[in-house]
Amino acid sequence: MKIGVFGGTFDPIHIGHIISVLEVKIAFGLDRVIFIPARQSPHKETMPTGNEERTAMIQKAIAGYEGFSMDTFELDRYGKSFTYDTAKYLKDEYPDDELYFLMGTDQYESFDKWYRNEELIDMMNFIVMMRHSDDMEISAPFIRADQLVVEVSASLVRRRAKEGLPYKHFLNEAVYEYIKENALYEA
Ligand code: ATP
Repeated sequence: MKIGVFGGTFDPIHIGHIISVLEVKIAFGLDRVIFIPARQSPHKETMPTGNEERTAMIQKAIAGYEGFSMDTFELDRYGKSFTYDTAKYLKDEYPDDELYFLMGTDQYESFDKWYRNEELIDMMNFIVMMRHSDDMEISAPFIRADQLVVEVSASLVRRRAKEGLPYKHFLNEAVYEYIKENALYEA
């Protein structure tokens, strides 16, 4: 089986995530995609919204998409999440499957700073999804995905919510309702 692995803070999960990953799933013939929310990105300074809220939003956003699931391995661990540890865990869980880690160009650009990145390259395949219409050169062994680009980011959603401007169109409807009910991102 070909398994896509999609890590991120997902604060919140938005249509940019769902559309790009679904397009990549089709283009690369992935059988399933596992969404892995990060406890705290080693590359981000600010603390994310709580685990319970982020996982609830992911469940709502992926519901009904065949082959999409979530694994809370990184949230269940203590401290920072390194993709290296997640890759080791996934290789144990799925020894007979081929793993494809999916990332946006922003992650690709910072890959040289990732923990044990040279070993990581040997553990999984890496697919780089274009963002913001960038036409970035992607070096092997990274694989370039020219998926449909939707220029939505979680920071845009958070900024809009804080400013009281519309952002419903960037989200799955149930995720939007959840954010409103729980008054997330307003402060
Ligand atoms: P933020 O705006 O807070 O930095 P984000 O929207 O980039 O968040 P993350 O949860 O940090 O969301 O992203 C998880 C993964 O999804 C990363 O690899 C990121 O590059 C990718 N990604 C996020 N938004 C898009 C998008 N619109 N198109 C393609 N990839 C995306």
